[in-house]
Amino acid sequence: MAYTVTLIPGDGTGPEITEATCRVLEATGVEFDWQIHNAGADIAEKIGEVLPESVLDSIRKNKLALKGPLTTPVGKGFRSVNVALRKELDLYACLRPCKTYKGVRSLYDDIDLVVVRENTEDLYAGIEFEKGTTAASDLIDEVKRLSGLTIRADSGISIKPISIAGTDRIVRFAFDYAILNGRKKVTAVHKANIMKFSDGLFLEVARQVAQDYPDIEFEDRIVDNMCMQLVQKPELYDVIVLPNLYGDIVSDLCAGLIGGLGVAPGANIGDDVAVFEATHGSAPRYTGMNKVNPLALILSGVMLLRHLAEVDAAERLDRAVERLIEDGASVTYDMKPNRDDPTAVGTSDVADALIALMNDA
Ligand code: NAD
Repeated sequence: MAYTVTLIPGDGTGPEITEATCRVLEATGVEFDWQIHNAGADIAEKIGEVLPESVLDSIRKNKLALKGPLTTPVGKGFRSVNVALRKELDLYACLRPCKTYKGVRSLYDDIDLVVVRENTEDLYAGIEFEKGTTAASDLIDEVKRLSGLTIRADSGISIKPISIAGTDRIVRFAFDYAILNGRKKVTAVHKANIMKFSDGLFLEVARQVAQDYPDIEFEDRIVDNMCMQLVQKPELYDVIVLPNLYGDIVSDLCAGLIGGLGVAPGANIGDDVAVFEATHGSAPRYTGMNKVNPLALILSGVMLLRHLAEVDAAERLDRAVERLIEDGASVTYDMKPNRDDPTAVGTSDVADALIALMNDA
């Protein structure tokens, strides 16, 4: 029986990498019925909405989606559709496994970390007040009244909410993941020394939740120290749980440890819906060039297969990726020792090579 999955091709280089990923997933022998839905700037030009309700309805119905990246204008224009999707579907956990494959171009060869990022709160909640507006000015007056503290009149303001409920569920997700996947330790990351009522609450709740999981070691780190430690001693870490913004930044740092965004997969998971997407964005300057690396989305596809308990297919595809990277011939420019290497292959060639490797196994 085919699995019905909502497919959002995305924009920029998204359609190329989703096409490659769907082909590779189908070649595992698992059957999929892809229900294609568009979101983002391109669809907004046609129907005036960046995230049509039909996309959300399809994901809610299928409970599963594979998604290419979507472009967000910087500093102006519409808010991120990626963030809106996570909020609308309450996909509170962003799961980003970071593992080095042999032969990958990286300073490290033995990384095996999992980043669990809270997806719905923190400075990403989208509660913002634009400089010079009546709302910003009223808020500045209210803050002065409540705290006695002055915010400059020409400030823009972003609010950082962190709740007990939001923290409890993300930290439990991290511990449950650790147990299910044979992991030993969870590290909570924060800046509780400075933001005592938001990050402080995150840490307090994380410590309480940790008491319910006596078999998993628990520790915490301040985020700046964590960044240095991850660069110097990444082998000390296992599962890392972070509020939204630190999770975003540390995910890219960890992607850098394992060879770059081209190989960093991810999933956004809620209580009964999961959306699989790479960590990277739409890399718009390479659109239509059959150039970027599809492996991050293909590895997100491996996560999707595991989520479906299609363990054999997941392992076969993961092994093919391992062999492809170790061999080093059929990889895109970003995985070659020299980025101008003329032997770099294109997006669709990576899919062809993986399919050949799976057929060969
Ligand atoms: P990006 O991830 O698109 O690109 C960062 C760098 O990594 C660029 O040099 C790019 O060429 C390279 N890169 C990215 N993906 C690659 C791949 N598959 N293979 C090889 N190289 C790759 O980040 P950005 O430039 O900051 O963002 C571009 C757009 O993507 C923005 O509009 C941003 O908002 C959006 N974005 C979307 C998502 C998402 O859909 N979840 C995530 C991050 C960024």
